[in-house]
Amino acid sequence: MVTRYNNCDLSSRNTFRMKVKCALYVEVTAEEDLQALDWAALPQPVLVLGGGSNLLFTKDFPGTVMHVAICHSERSEESVTCGAGVVFDDFCAWAAAEGLWGPENLSLIPGEVGASAVQNIGAYGVEAKDIIADIRAYDRETGQFVQIDPATCGYGYRTSKFKTEWKGRYVITAVTYRLSRTPQPRLDYGGVRKALEEMGGCEPMLTPSLVREAIIGIRRQKLPAVEEVGSAGSFFCNPVISREHFERIVAIARADNGPDYEVPHYDTPGGVKVPAAWMIDQCGFKGARNGGAQVYPGQPLVIVNASGTASPQEIIGLEQQIIQTIERKYGITLHPEVEHV
Ligand SMILES: Cc1cc2nc3c(=O)[nH]c(=O)nc-3n(C[C@H](O)[C@H](O)[C@H](O)COP(=O)(O)OP(=O)(O)OC[C@H]3O[C@@H](n4cnc5c(N)ncnc54)[C@H](O)[C@@H]3O)c2cc1C
Repeated sequence: MVTRYNNCDLSSRNTFRMKVKCALYVEVTAEEDLQALDWAALPQPVLVLGGGSNLLFTKDFPGTVMHVAICHSERSEESVTCGAGVVFDDFCAWAAAEGLWGPENLSLIPGEVGASAVQNIGAYGVEAKDIIADIRAYDRETGQFVQIDPATCGYGYRTSKFKTEWKGRYVITAVTYRLSRTPQPRLDYGGVRKALEEMGGCEPMLTPSLVREAIIGIRRQKLPAVEEVGSAGSFFCNPVISREHFERIVAIARADNGPDYEVPHYDTPGGVKVPAAWMIDQCGFKGARNGGAQVYPGQPLVIVNASGTASPQEIIGLEQQIIQTIERKYGITLHPEVEHV
């Protein structure tokens, strides 16, 4: 079924709650709808929208916003195929309840199944690419459905070819995730082990449900709940810099904080990853406001619509202040993780 709304208000369809409109909103509920659509007749461009939790609408959208509300699930031995419109956390909750390992560390990430394969969502040491077995999509260039091998998707940190060279080409309709009955807990990241110990859970008694519960507990403490305050999660990517550049950052940090100060960082194959949240905090932005926009006091990597009525310009204004200040202080240009539309 295809549902259409002209001049549609998008404020309930993006988690930042930007009050913008699109010329046409189209919702499809079956694959056949995508083939039957007269794509050329739709107001252009066409944006495929999931839960709107990684987007900042910067103005009214002149074209078509399309939501793929395909919500079936099909299970086989140790995998499950979910329609693109399934809420990703519903899948995580289901897998945990069934005692199946795989997505438990990704619990409570907002958004839908389709976008999980676009974004390569990640949390607590696990990325979507670790569990994606297959992707089904409508190819707008050929008008055919294709199965896409995840090995060809160019997955990296919060990125894939769906965001770069394939941008706008594929409408994902389903994702197949690999699951396992064999315990495979990943606990060495972001305080997961400690949280489990506090809950009384320990190996070998762990279950996916217990790990999910621990992750949800950590996330609820750190991140704003989308039902309560508008945001799109981490606003900036964590930059990776050279070892020499990192040494310069250490010198600046020690001048500010004392000679024994340790700069948080992770060594990666491409260089040194420095948490953007740390830099934002060091530059005094924690809790900073620009009109209704605010750097979330509990997690400075997140910009929130604190007033509930912040405009895109207020969010962008705060973003620019942060980028410019960090550039001046550390010589690092932060790049937004949130897609600006
Ligand atoms: C409070 C909060 C916490 C968050 N925490 C995390 C986290 O821990 N880790 C993390 O990785 N992310 C996190 N995010 C970001 C966000 O949840 C993810 O990026 C999520 O995958 C976005 O899903 P969505 O359905 O909302 O996608 P949208 O924001 O609607 O779209 C994202 C992109 O995917 C494309 N897209 C969506 N559906 C399809 C489809 N069916 N076919 C083709 N393209 C499609 C869109 O065009 C867009 O380019 C967080 C966000 C919030 C608000």
